[in-house]
Amino acid sequence: MIIIVGAGPAGLAVAYELQQRNLPYRILERCGIGFAWQNHYDRLHLHTLKEVSTLPGLPMPDDYPPFPSASQFQRYLVQYARHFRIEIASGVEVQSATWNAHAWQIMTNQGPVEGDTLVVATGIWSTPYIPALGGEADFGGLIMHSRDYRNPTPFVGKRTLVVGVGNSGAEIAVDLSEHGVATGISIQSGATFVPYPQSATAMRALAWLFLRLPRSLGERALRRVRRDYSAIGIPWPPGMLLDSYPVVGYQLPEAVAAGRVTRYPGVSRFLPGRVQFDNGQGEPFDAVILATGYRPTIQFVADELDLDQDGKPRVDRYWRSVRNAHLVCVGFTYPSTEGWLQAIGRVARMAAEGIVQGRR
Ligand SMILES: Cc1cc2nc3c(=O)[nH]c(=O)nc-3n(C[C@H](O)[C@H](O)[C@H](O)COP(=O)(O)OP(=O)(O)OC[C@H]3O[C@@H](n4cnc5c(N)ncnc54)[C@H](O)[C@@H]3O)c2cc1C
Repeated sequence: MIIIVGAGPAGLAVAYELQQRNLPYRILERCGIGFAWQNHYDRLHLHTLKEVSTLPGLPMPDDYPPFPSASQFQRYLVQYARHFRIEIASGVEVQSATWNAHAWQIMTNQGPVEGDTLVVATGIWSTPYIPALGGEADFGGLIMHSRDYRNPTPFVGKRTLVVGVGNSGAEIAVDLSEHGVATGISIQSGATFVPYPQSATAMRALAWLFLRLPRSLGERALRRVRRDYSAIGIPWPPGMLLDSYPVVGYQLPEAVAAGRVTRYPGVSRFLPGRVQFDNGQGEPFDAVILATGYRPTIQFVADELDLDQDGKPRVDRYWRSVRNAHLVCVGFTYPSTEGWLQAIGRVARMAAEGIVQGRR
């Protein structure tokens, strides 16, 4: 039996591919299908076009807009599971998984489970990354992770700093500023921005091209087309643009240029009622939202994994752990030149092929 942990897009896509190959599987999910998409900020929409964000075998409904809302996407995931009769054991949280040379001994909150292959599709949302900046206990204001942000209402009248400029940080800062909140954004190194995609064909063609182009050529192409916002204090990030996931849409740099969002350097520590920045200056704030990202949710199987410098599992081309070929890790690494969901069909297909190979 193949045990899949997680019923998000990655787990469902792998289940579909296993079903196509008549392989037996079971999905264990600690909450419900697509749970991560049910529990996010009100404004959250896909920033990738629906045509390239579908799971294999079933398009999104025709009446969905080009960029569906988080709840529409979650409903699509539920519909996907129903359509392909993918059974989910909901409310089953995997707590540990140990390989004993023949099988996986998996401990869950509902008792032990055994399997010959383990597919970890637990995503990142369950593990928000909260850096220890120092002085948090003395700050006196609100400090929270972006995962817990819902809408601007509680922040009206509060000087609010968003720390980090990924897609969540950029969108939350714009959301706050559009509702009259005095908003700052702390950008430690830099960011790169791309326009909202207009054409699924172009998205597919670009992804195809960037997977094949030599890195030096791809990098040169990106540097020619990406906008440079260093004049308003948002330089490109250090290293190769090819390696950094871009922010979709130009709303944040436009808000910074128009003075609706104030740009600050990286945070060095908290002081009573203030935040001190890397340039030594301090500013008063009432609330800080840490949009500092997430880490892979892999703690329950950490002993069987080799991790790279970003804390992601090292895998072979079939997404199998380099330490254990009976362990498949999907959904943790994607190219930065296409949407995560865009790559999921390809990733799930390769993962299923690797499992078939291992059974020959
Ligand atoms: C804010 C945000 C917006 C994004 N927007 C886009 C976008 O527009 N386009 C795009 O292509 N990508 C986007 N992504 C990236 C990616 O597509 C999503 O994170 C996607 O949900 C990843 O799918 P997944 O199945 O790997 O993980 P998840 O959707 O997180 O699913 C993992 C599942 O595993 C379950 N789980 C976790 N731990 C356990 C456990 N121990 N036992 C049992 N179950 C467990 C969770 O409850 C969850 O249901 C976004 C990511 C974020 C954070």
